[in-house]
Amino acid sequence: MAHGRYTRVSLATTSTAVAVRLSKPVTHGPLVAFAALVAFVALASSPCRLRAAENLVFVTWDGFRWQEMFTGAEERLISKDFGGVSDAAALRKAYWRDTPEARREVLLPFVWGVLAKDGQLFGDPTRKAAARLTNGRKFSYPGYNEMFAGFADSGIDSNNKIPNPNLTVLEHIHRQPGFADRVAAFATWDVIEFVLNRERSRMTVQVAWNPLRDEPLTEGQRHVNAMIKDLPRLWPGVAYDVVAQAAAREHLQKHKPRVLYIGLGETDEWAHARRYDQYLDSARRADRFLREFWELLQSLPEYRGKTNLVLTTDHGRGFGRDWANHSATTEGAEFIWIGLLGPDVPPLGVREGIEATQSQVAATLGKLVGVDFPSAAPQAAPPLNLAKP
Ligand SMILES: [Zn+2]
Repeated sequence: MAHGRYTRVSLATTSTAVAVRLSKPVTHGPLVAFAALVAFVALASSPCRLRAAENLVFVTWDGFRWQEMFTGAEERLISKDFGGVSDAAALRKAYWRDTPEARREVLLPFVWGVLAKDGQLFGDPTRKAAARLTNGRKFSYPGYNEMFAGFADSGIDSNNKIPNPNLTVLEHIHRQPGFADRVAAFATWDVIEFVLNRERSRMTVQVAWNPLRDEPLTEGQRHVNAMIKDLPRLWPGVAYDVVAQAAAREHLQKHKPRVLYIGLGETDEWAHARRYDQYLDSARRADRFLREFWELLQSLPEYRGKTNLVLTTDHGRGFGRDWANHSATTEGAEFIWIGLLGPDVPPLGVREGIEATQSQVAATLGKLVGVDFPSAAPQAAPPLNLAKP
């Protein structure tokens, strides 16, 4: 449980947190000794309950590469030939800058201006901090299963709509006291309903172009349903990001969930279509949504200062001309990235010298709302180490 020198321990009758220095001798007299005693009693009496913030928001950007995450737009893909870009000059103006730092900031201003400063970002292979999926398949269902169930399941070998046999961390959290009907998922991809096994888990799982059925609908929810009815549909089974974003925002304000998952998918669709311009624009919109959502959270007393945010992707993609693809045979598509922000995430920025796997996401999500997932799912990998090295 305690990875670092400090462990935050809740006192049973109040929400006060006490910082206890564990590795050094007690030098501050009886008060510290008393706090240590309280900490010991609290830990001993509830071995499975971890101290963490009350709420969690989890966001995924389907198939968004580490290359753009850490270095912004890639020059040779800003072209008709590699990137299917018809107006390369305009795209260059929007996203090309002289340094990788400037390029990533213009593409992802919230990630680089807030999350990577006040939180943590795993997955920069150039800093001995690669983050990898372990499923070997390098496509979506195996990836989402790995991040939600905490292990690579060799039985999941397609994107077919098969209810997930594995316990997901969201379902496990949903079963804990205080979380019933307070876990919800909004995703653009229709298969997420099966990844999260909506029938078995009985969570709110809203996907793709299905209209909201949450009567009486708010004005905002009616607007979402109007978009669902009126927008043109480019991809079978995948809605535009704005649909899931708007539905999640309405759900947050109406139902005040403690755990909210938002699965965005345009980055993957535009990459498959080899449209680098649309791929970058989708990522920038997804970053703007994240900023607006984070600011919304900080404006609500239920969430302000009590909400952790996790952001990741289900798989990487190839490079060079192969950037559009991802499959078991795509070299490099096993590399992902994981971002975290919130009261339980020390501000260590871009992590160096620490590798991570996609399978660690599940236990990390649990831990960030105080739920021990590996105790219920023994195959699940341990959580990420977010403490100071
Ligand atoms: Zn894909």
